[in-house]
Amino acid sequence: MFSEIEQKVKDTIKKYNLCNKKQKILIALSGGKDSAAVAHLLNKLGYNIEAIHIDIGLGKYSEDCLKAVREVCRRLDIKLHVYNVKQEIGKPIIKIFKKNPDRLSNCTICGVIKKWILNREARKLKADKIATGHHREDELQTFLMNIFKGSPQLNSNFGPVLDTKDSKFVIRIKPLFFISEKEIEDYSGKLKLPSIREICPYRKETYRVETRKLFEKISEKEKENMMGNFLEISRRIKTDNSQINYCKICGEPSRKNICRKCELMKIKK
Ligand code: SF4
Ligand code: ZN
Repeated sequence: MFSEIEQKVKDTIKKYNLCNKKQKILIALSGGKDSAAVAHLLNKLGYNIEAIHIDIGLGKYSEDCLKAVREVCRRLDIKLHVYNVKQEIGKPIIKIFKKNPDRLSNCTICGVIKKWILNREARKLKADKIATGHHREDELQTFLMNIFKGSPQLNSNFGPVLDTKDSKFVIRIKPLFFISEKEIEDYSGKLKLPSIREICPYRKETYRVETRKLFEKISEKEKENMMGNFLEISRRIKTDNSQINYCKICGEPSRKNICRKCELMKIKK
């Protein structure tokens, strides 16, 4: 017997062919409720899952994230792989936050580095897919932010699956793509899924916070319609993702000759 949210996720997986039970799915666990919910849902639906956590090294906040992640994996009895940003890139992320010349937000930098580690390690672990906890509100906000920032072409990737058809790129799936934040809160609250409550002390995403406010007065029905409309826009502007370059420094898939992570690494210590 499945609850409403479980059935919705099951339907999304089927409709968009996100994964199958022979594949190895790596859940990107952050310590938050959304990724904990994905782990719980895919485990309940019988998928072959393991977890991966990137320890960003932000003091007590990161320690608490890791604690929550370990607890989720213990409860679900799934294998956990932990990677430490400082060890992987050779310097603390805080140094890059402080010294980046392009005035990128901390969250943008953090996202670039986490994705770089995730993709490389998921490939080494021979994972077929990486599953993340992005939900409907995250996706609506990102779509609008791409437009506000003058990069509407980035929305061609809007959807529950990101696949570049490149063998070095591990396909990313978003099983909660159509699930609202409120549904996830209720679900994880009911199951008492271990997750952190505190907000990251380095969070600097004023743009996202402002965009988030725009959605506060919009009804559920309107948000559902928007998802449909945005998917249609994405289909129309779809670009060919199959032409991938490889970073001249690290060899990872990249749009440009040097990937964004390696550009950040050029910052002097
Ligand atoms: Fe990284 Fe931003 Fe999340 Fe903090 S809030 S962990 S800086 S992405
Ligand atoms: Zn690189």
